[in-house]
Amino acid sequence: MARYKYLIVGNSAGGIGAVEAIREGDSQGSLALVSDEPYPAYSRPAISEFLMGERDFDDRMYFRAPDFYDRHKVERYLGARVTQLDLEGREVVLENGDRLGWERLLLATGGVPITPRMDGLELNGVHRFTTIDHARNIDAALKQGARRVVVVGGGLIGCSLTSALIQRGGVEVVMVELLDRALAAVMDATASAMVEARLRELEVRVVTGHSVAGILPASSDPSRVGAVTLSSGEEIPCDLVGVAVGVAPRLELVRETPIEVNRGIVVDRYMETTVPGVFACGDVAEAYDFIYDSHRVVAIWPNAYIGGRIAGLNMAGGHHEYDGCTAMNSFSYFDIALASAGLFDPGAEDSVQTDTVNENGVYKKVVLREGRLVGFLLQGDIDQAGVLFRLMRDRVPVVDFQDRLLEDGFGLVSLPRPLRDAWLGDGGMGYEGSLAGGLAAK
Ligand SMILES: Cc1cc2nc3c(=O)[nH]c(=O)nc-3n(C[C@H](O)[C@H](O)[C@H](O)COP(=O)(O)OP(=O)(O)OC[C@H]3O[C@@H](n4cnc5c(N)ncnc54)[C@H](O)[C@@H]3O)c2cc1C
Repeated sequence: MARYKYLIVGNSAGGIGAVEAIREGDSQGSLALVSDEPYPAYSRPAISEFLMGERDFDDRMYFRAPDFYDRHKVERYLGARVTQLDLEGREVVLENGDRLGWERLLLATGGVPITPRMDGLELNGVHRFTTIDHARNIDAALKQGARRVVVVGGGLIGCSLTSALIQRGGVEVVMVELLDRALAAVMDATASAMVEARLRELEVRVVTGHSVAGILPASSDPSRVGAVTLSSGEEIPCDLVGVAVGVAPRLELVRETPIEVNRGIVVDRYMETTVPGVFACGDVAEAYDFIYDSHRVVAIWPNAYIGGRIAGLNMAGGHHEYDGCTAMNSFSYFDIALASAGLFDPGAEDSVQTDTVNENGVYKKVVLREGRLVGFLLQGDIDQAGVLFRLMRDRVPVVDFQDRLLEDGFGLVSLPRPLRDAWLGDGGMGYEGSLAGGLAAK
């Protein structure tokens, strides 16, 4: 049985961040990485562009160079699923029965697509949209002639799929969202309404406030999808259903173990779980959120990558605290540019909000609490995202210049001199840098 000093389960943002950080602290310790996806690490957010036909997988989806694993002395077990975690023996068991030992383990197992309960999920023509293989399956179905698509879910993943379908052209799309508006998790009602209006312009039918109650077989071929029924009773004919409701932490390995789990795996500020020597990061873990001042699942790429880096530094003997993350999204579908972070829709009495919608359809909003920025939303013009994010992350008191936050051109030069000098001294804004963390292929 092979035994490694470091073992990582998951070969995506979190796993790669950890590999890089481990090698910064320990250039020689034995290191292995296991993933049930058979490919080198690729940019998951870019599966939409792959489906659009804008990216060739072998060429432009990988976010590290082909020699990455060799350069970092990483033993790869790709296309291998870990089925069991033996914490006492400090081993994992692979699907084929092989065991791999470890001294320090990182669980970067990400998320699994959420599947609402409904009849007909087993029919041909029902797809998920979180992996490159899912995108390939949809691509194949479209090439075989699928023309009427129902996208179940009007969140980021549903929009990502819808955007790819629109871009390809030649398909009718109906988006069905259970809540009363699309994208409720990443934008406020005003911004959602602007996106929905744009979708209608693009001839996408958006059905909100209803769920898909069931998927019905086609009368011509009962093994295939023929329609969906909504909770309203309406039947929508279709030949492809994209279930894109979101992801939940992939917890199968830690159930029935002493590793503490809430919604995600509980970790401390060093990304270590409640079992010493076992770390977790990314979509599967509850990292520190500096806006909520508590630990939560924040399923975004930068959190996975930076959390993975912190875990890796500490696995290699360091003592680095994660400053934390918060929900932040950069949305660029349907020719709409949007950036949001933190609390953009607070509803709490102790916050002040400022809204403007200008004649060019640019919409900006900042949310302040006790004189500090706790959230923002920029639509149409997102140039200020970097500076606003840094003000938020560094808890900078903004009272003296809060009236200027939404001005066109607000930026580094608008900040009080000492603050500006301090930022220039340590190089950068933080938002784009964090979003880019490892997303080089995007
Ligand atoms: C369509 C889509 C669009 C997105 N767009 C954006 C965006 O624009 N911006 C943004 O910030 N984020 C975006 N995200 C979210 C982002 O991709 C995730 O937050 C990020 O990939 C999480 O990284 P991770 O390393 O935690 O896990 P994942 O990327 O989920 O990877 C986990 C890996 O672990 C493997 N694994 C899990 N369990 C096992 C096991 N038992 N054995 C072996 N291998 C296992 C999985 O197969 C997978 O390869 C998007 C996600 C999707 C699906």
